[in-house]
Amino acid sequence: MRRIAVAGAGPAGLSAAQELRRLGYDGELVMVGAERHRPYRRPPLSKEYLLPGAGGVELPGAADLGASWLLGQPATGLDLPGRRLLRGRLPPVAYDGLVIATGVRARGLPGSDALPGVVTLRGLDDARRLRAALATRPRVVIAGAGFVGSELAATLRTLGLPVTLVGSGRVPLRRPLGERVGAIVAGLHRAHGVDLRLGRRVRAATGGGRVERVHLDDGTVLPADLLVPALGAEPEVDWLRGSGLRLDGGVVVDRWGLAAPGVAAAGDVARWPSSLLGGRTTRVEHYSNAVGQGAHAARALLGVGGRFDPVPSFWCHLYGHRLQSVGLTGAGYETRLVAAEPDGRFLAEYRRDDRVVGAVTAGFLRRLPDYRKLITKEYA
Ligand SMILES: Cc1cc2nc3c(=O)[nH]c(=O)nc-3n(C[C@H](O)[C@H](O)[C@H](O)COP(=O)(O)OP(=O)(O)OC[C@H]3O[C@@H](n4cnc5c(N)ncnc54)[C@H](O)[C@@H]3O)c2cc1C
Repeated sequence: MRRIAVAGAGPAGLSAAQELRRLGYDGELVMVGAERHRPYRRPPLSKEYLLPGAGGVELPGAADLGASWLLGQPATGLDLPGRRLLRGRLPPVAYDGLVIATGVRARGLPGSDALPGVVTLRGLDDARRLRAALATRPRVVIAGAGFVGSELAATLRTLGLPVTLVGSGRVPLRRPLGERVGAIVAGLHRAHGVDLRLGRRVRAATGGGRVERVHLDDGTVLPADLLVPALGAEPEVDWLRGSGLRLDGGVVVDRWGLAAPGVAAAGDVARWPSSLLGGRTTRVEHYSNAVGQGAHAARALLGVGGRFDPVPSFWCHLYGHRLQSVGLTGAGYETRLVAAEPDGRFLAEYRRDDRVVGAVTAGFLRRLPDYRKLITKEYA
């Protein structure tokens, strides 16, 4: 291959590019990124990046790749038979190999997104806006009690700001962690002074020129200066519609990681067949998966990769606890609390058909490698 293009200059795209070079690929590398930033880490954006004295988030290694960087302009289409990445009115990028790593975009709150004081959190520019807004010590409402909403609530409480967290489930993080672990997380939020409104949805934000009130679906009106919609994300695949690639809640790849001959996909945007799910496809929004699948995409393009079938894992930070998972977790599985301490430490395992498919812990990290081994063995 003489030229490999990478669409999406995030962690998955960078990891693919680094692995290509590591494997000795010495052809052209073209990195096409919608943001003007070189690859950076998003996880700190809901955590330490918002606290005083935070450092930078740029990922190391981008400058050493010998790549061309076409940043600040998204890929707008894919000419699959012609092997060209389209970029609106800009010249297309012809490629021999392509990595699709365009990630996801945050869902906003339709009708209220344009009101000053409504800030979604996905990218570095969002986090900078949010950080600037926090300097005025606002009353904050967070819509959505998933990972980003819950982490953000914890970080803002560390700053001593008044925070209302609104979640549509009976507990926070119900979908990814299930009721029992969600109840522990609810306890942590309450113990740290978060005003938790569960079983509710934010409908709109209103105010004279900027956010002053947030309206919930039960008619409650919350006074607020800042609303952060943390309502999940959608895969960035609109630009691929009509390209001929299979899109089904993400770019579908085969078990080798390829979406088409010469085209791999990786990271938050990619959906792959998983042994843990009996061969059904899954897509995860976890950092370590983005890095691992990015590297795998490089190997797939060079024809040296095996099957991509990892046991997924994620981490998240809440009030000084590091939550760490392995395997599949969530409301869809039977949850067993193996340990639950009054200080918020816990260990939970998830089962399907009486087999362990996943585990999550805060404070019992040393137990996770055994779960990983068990799950890997069961589903190999
Ligand atoms: C606030 C926050 C906190 C998080 N915390 C954690 C955590 O604690 N633990 C964890 O495991 N995960 C966490 N994540 C998730 C993790 O950051 C993602 O899994 C990871 O960034 C995915 O990497 P990616 O390269 O697939 O996608 P992204 O990081 O989204 O990068 C994709 C890049 O492609 C660009 N792009 C989009 N469309 C186009 C286009 N058409 N053309 C060109 N470029 C395009 C995007 O602008 C972006 O720069 C967090 C995410 C957020 C937002």
